Amino acid sequence: MFGLMQNQQLLISSLIDFAERHHGEGEIVSRRVEGDIHRTNYKNVALRSRRVANALDQMKLGFSDRVATLAWNGYRHLELYFGVSGSGRVLHTLNPRLHPDQIVWIADHAEDQVLCFDMTFLPIIKAIHHRCSTIKHFIALCDADKLPEDTGIPGLQSYEAWIGKQSEQYTWPDFDENSASSMCYTSGTTGNPKAALYSHRSTILHAMSGALPDALSMSARDSVLPVVPMFHVNAWGLPYSAAMTGAKLVFPGPAMDGKSIFELIEGEKVSFAAGVPTVWQMMLAHMQTNNLKFSTLKRTVIGGSACPPAMITAFNDVYGVEVLHAWGMTEMSPLGTVCTLKNKHLNLDPAEKMKVRLKQGRGIYGVDMKIVDGDGKELPWDGKAYGDLLVKGPWIISEYFKGEGGSPLVDGWFPTGDVATIDPDGYMQITDRSKDVIKSGGEWISSIDVENIAMAHPAVAMAACIGMKHPKWDERPIIAVVKKPGIDVSVAELLAFYEGKTAKWQIPDDVVFVDAIPLGGTGKMQKSKLREMLADYKLPSA
Ligand code: AMP
Repeated sequence: MFGLMQNQQLLISSLIDFAERHHGEGEIVSRRVEGDIHRTNYKNVALRSRRVANALDQMKLGFSDRVATLAWNGYRHLELYFGVSGSGRVLHTLNPRLHPDQIVWIADHAEDQVLCFDMTFLPIIKAIHHRCSTIKHFIALCDADKLPEDTGIPGLQSYEAWIGKQSEQYTWPDFDENSASSMCYTSGTTGNPKAALYSHRSTILHAMSGALPDALSMSARDSVLPVVPMFHVNAWGLPYSAAMTGAKLVFPGPAMDGKSIFELIEGEKVSFAAGVPTVWQMMLAHMQTNNLKFSTLKRTVIGGSACPPAMITAFNDVYGVEVLHAWGMTEMSPLGTVCTLKNKHLNLDPAEKMKVRLKQGRGIYGVDMKIVDGDGKELPWDGKAYGDLLVKGPWIISEYFKGEGGSPLVDGWFPTGDVATIDPDGYMQITDRSKDVIKSGGEWISSIDVENIAMAHPAVAMAACIGMKHPKWDERPIIAVVKKPGIDVSVAELLAFYEGKTAKWQIPDDVVFVDAIPLGGTGKMQKSKLREMLADYKLPSA
């Protein structure tokens, strides 16, 4: 017997319809490429996204055709989120931090038909447009009078001219909720980049679960700043969760420096912000130097790479902001776990509470996790046993776009490539990417633990731990450190700083001072590049 409820498809168009009807006045604020602050609201975004849909119809784009963006976080990008997916096309968010050759490769692989780009990226488009074999239309995300003449890009039009001539009336099509809605390539895998292809259903369920109180806890009373880019896993789903809840959205555009982000938080009364640790590092440094405090920020979700304890302490103790440590991946839409406390933790002393907050958190509803040993045998949730982390759920990939790399699943579970523990309360803690784990004398050393200790030293701006070949121990950890400007520290001082904070054999053998740690397109440390940089390095004990 079937239930007798209406079988309405879960479609992204329903989000913007809802936001328009119930939160039409809800603000959308963007710092634009031009540097000014632009204000609009859900009603305007809704009607302009319908113009986008009409414009795509006029271009004769078919169902599931790909429309790419190369753009910062802003209102026009948001309109494309709804207009492209809502009308049945697939939004492909390209990462502008990639090398132009990679962008060409990815656009070709995705068979993008249209590319909408921010003016910041005009030089890239000028250089590559003739090599993008499938793209028929280039749209510059700017006013008509800002479009330079003679760009050499055939048929280039401004976004405002493109949608300006379209009607704001449009009936969103109804179709199978399992249809593709957006895609994002990840370079976290081996070989060529592969794409996660999200569906309307996966996007809506992810947005709904992500907005829950024990996840990101989003509401119409929030002012939300996604610093995480809209080209990185749909800004962690925040644009969708915001439309679902009517939260105010504040977009930083290209200005990610500490000063600009701080000013936006204060100016727009931001209550909730989201970003990777490197962004917050810059902002906290700016606040420290200028002796600034927040007046409205209540919580911040930090993920993408491990959040150093020193950062959680700074937010919590110095600035009164709750940190939600979160973990996920492109293949998971991305939310997997968020670290929120249970009742039993509320009266713990600060040091014990910190131990919980440091973990990547509990699986949110919809995400199932397990850890397994090398033979695939499931390991206990005792907070000690560590193994390969596998996940499953309705917003987790079943295969990559075009079947690249074959089926990634093992008995229906997706292997994340992360190594983790899970404690009896269900809190998962990542110890490493499996390829970054340091194997020393038959034991594993978590590079994240080693980095976290260094990051707590006042002279350390950034730290990356890697394993170096060792004749006796197989591998030994060393730590590459970028010093804070104006503060000095010696190798011996830094190594002494580890005493008493970790087991002796987990203390790195050496410290190497570097000018910068190589970062990838999404702000993650690129340890493979660091290893290349240190190819001639010899361990003192080897
Ligand atoms: P991406 O698909 O580019 O978002 O990368 C996903 C990977 O980033 C995960 O598999 C983890 O290795 C890493 N990651 C994401 N969030 C965290 C976190 N909170 N702590 C440690 N690693 C993280």
